[in-house]
Amino acid sequence: MSIDRTARAQAGAVWADVVGPAAGHGLAALAGSSPDVGVVGYTLGGGMGWLGRAYGLSASNVESFEAVTADGRLVRADACTEPDLFWALRGGGSFAMVTAIELRLFPVTEVYAGLLWWPIEASDEVLHAWQELTASGLPDDFTTTFRFLRFPDVPDVPEPVRGGAFAVVDAIHLGTPAEGEALLAPLRKLRPVTDTMAMISMPALSHPHMDPEHPVPGVGDGIMLASLPPEAVTRLLGVAGAGTGSPLGVELRHVGGEMKRTRPGNGALAAVNADYALFAASAAPTPQAVWAIGHGVAAVLSAMAPWAAAQTYLNLTETRRDPASFWAPQVYDRLRRVKAAVDPTDLIRANHPIPPARPEQVAPSAQDHAILQPAG
Ligand SMILES: Cc1cc2nc3c(=O)[nH]c(=O)nc-3n(C[C@H](O)[C@H](O)[C@H](O)COP(=O)(O)OP(=O)(O)OC[C@H]3O[C@@H](n4cnc5c(N)ncnc54)[C@H](O)[C@@H]3O)c2cc1C
Repeated sequence: MSIDRTARAQAGAVWADVVGPAAGHGLAALAGSSPDVGVVGYTLGGGMGWLGRAYGLSASNVESFEAVTADGRLVRADACTEPDLFWALRGGGSFAMVTAIELRLFPVTEVYAGLLWWPIEASDEVLHAWQELTASGLPDDFTTTFRFLRFPDVPDVPEPVRGGAFAVVDAIHLGTPAEGEALLAPLRKLRPVTDTMAMISMPALSHPHMDPEHPVPGVGDGIMLASLPPEAVTRLLGVAGAGTGSPLGVELRHVGGEMKRTRPGNGALAAVNADYALFAASAAPTPQAVWAIGHGVAAVLSAMAPWAAAQTYLNLTETRRDPASFWAPQVYDRLRRVKAAVDPTDLIRANHPIPPARPEQVAPSAQDHAILQPAG
């Protein structure tokens, strides 16, 4: 941590290692929903966190990387040194072995945040109301998710929710309870059975989402949605809502805000050109369950495909996709040229690998400068 509001995290650090110490200085990091996710892997893929609508992607808030390149050099990549590598690592995936990362922090000590719960039978009404709320022009300092949350009937799950199914809204507001309450009024009118909204510290914000904080055998996958009209809500309810028999947890996260704005100087994933992220998953402890859950997840994504955004998102993609589907065409072309320059033999294999451009494709990057310009 430093007085210039940056944090330096080494490879292997998880968000809990950064969020707590940052809070000790009255600062917040752009962590995601889990304290247990790696800072480097999350940021190389973009990094959509709870404060992202206000401050942007984690990748857009990197000051520098320290990395070992495929040819064995230890380099610092920032806006002035190794600028192409710096650009590619910010949302393009793995182009070098990152050993440390320097990230911007923000002066936030508390947020008004928590969960609203309903029995899953209320999900038609709640999800339609949530859709209307997120389509109503919410301020960037307010973030919500909607989830179908289904708990297995196993002893690890606490008694009150064991084997239960719920419709759950997470809300995080960077402001006062009064402002947050006003924004949540349309949902509170639907009488949640549990309402945990309160002012909480930044380290406490790592837990309400209840992401598993230890390894769990599971299957999941996601897509980005360009829009979520009422007919898309009806489709999702039909495939994963109450009475469908679906075993899946399905999350819709409201994205947009600063994460959707392309700023000069941003990296390869300069912005997420989508308004919602959709992720479906479930625990899958046996090979049969892996098959069945995988099939169910694919059915949800396919049902929602008519509203999919043009680009999908590295961090929420758990199946093999065409690498060209993650970025706009000119960004993908530039990533392939950077890959050819920094790792021509493809020594460093990312989860979603990018093939190096062929020699005849490694032309001077006349259009590369244009990629960094704001889209408007
Ligand atoms: C419970 C949970 C919650 C999540 N919540 C969010 C969320 O809110 N927002 C979001 O955007 N994503 C979220 N994700 C997705 C997460 O960001 C990705 O799975 C990410 O790839 C995890 O990185 P990792 O370092 O933890 O995992 P790892 O498996 O260690 O790394 C994933 C990949 O990142 C690359 N990588 C990691 N470290 C390095 C390194 N040092 N140098 C070079 N390449 C490296 C490699 O390609 C590696 O295969 C979540 C995932 C989980 C499991």
